[in-house]
Amino acid sequence: MTGPLENLDAVVEELLDQLAAFTSVEELDAHEPVLAGRRSPLAALQKSLGGLDPEARRDAGARLQAARTRVEAAVEGHRRRLAAAERERRLEADRLDLGDVVAGAVPDTLRAGHPGLVARTQAELEDVFVAMGFRVAEGPEVESDWYNFEALNIPPAHPARGMWDTFYVDLGEPETVVLRTHTSPTQVHLMEAAVRDGSLPIHSVMPGRCYRRDTPDARHLAAFHQVEGLVVDRGITFADLAGVIETFTRAYFGTDVDTRLRPSYFPFTEPSAEFEITCQICRGAGCRTCSHTGWIELGGCGMLDPAVLEAVGIDPDEWSGFAFGFGIDRCAQMRHEIADMRALTENDARFLEQFS
Ligand SMILES: [Zn+2]
Repeated sequence: MTGPLENLDAVVEELLDQLAAFTSVEELDAHEPVLAGRRSPLAALQKSLGGLDPEARRDAGARLQAARTRVEAAVEGHRRRLAAAERERRLEADRLDLGDVVAGAVPDTLRAGHPGLVARTQAELEDVFVAMGFRVAEGPEVESDWYNFEALNIPPAHPARGMWDTFYVDLGEPETVVLRTHTSPTQVHLMEAAVRDGSLPIHSVMPGRCYRRDTPDARHLAAFHQVEGLVVDRGITFADLAGVIETFTRAYFGTDVDTRLRPSYFPFTEPSAEFEITCQICRGAGCRTCSHTGWIELGGCGMLDPAVLEAVGIDPDEWSGFAFGFGIDRCAQMRHEIADMRALTENDARFLEQFS
């Protein structure tokens, strides 16, 4: 037989030989276009049929299609066999050999796990605040825009929103939903509940995880932990706030740690301040972690803006209060002199075991 398909059988045999040489699904996938796809010799033969008369072209086309079907079926069959063999090898590798255990050869140094440093630090901070008369409250990590921003005196398009690089869960109507950028929404929940139940005053701390689209560096993580405090009572002044901050930092970090408040801005407090403590890495001398200032910002605080009280239905003429918040990870970093906060999330057992 002559014509464009005179070597068809030999071409198919050659392709089947090539196919048999592939020993992994990955390798087979990579070469499939050469065997049965657009880069296959069969595809080239298809193009060469154009010069035949219609009847010859129909016969040749049918033969070519049969050849192609045969190669494709062979590729599929080989792929199934390779996949089955790979699965078998994986199972074999994963098999747990219990022979040693049955024989009593259990290692005599079983190592128990322990809470991570952040969880431990959170528990220690809670203890400090409970001893000061605060209650511990929790709230959801996924919040509506209202709780995370608007109820805190941060309406849409407020320039202060730029202070929080936000992860948005849902931009849909009727509500935008975010991963909370701070634990402050829990304050709103607490105040609403206190109004509903008639259970004012409030003296609470709210620990929990928060999220910001920060690029992690020595002092920042994208998922981090905060504890916030909220006091709503009659006759609360800034002196009460300053006293709580100082009592807490001394109880947690020790009496040799200095605290300073610096004027700052938060939309939900007025006046607002940042509080800083002596950098515990360099003891105030200046280092990379504190950007050579000797001070580390621990958190923010301030007197509750009357608009925040009004938004949840608390009469600002009768009640006043303050709020503060700071990073739990940052506390752990300072207390244990960890130069780079990213060590907290890298799961290096040599690092973690130092805090067992
Ligand atoms: Zn320092």
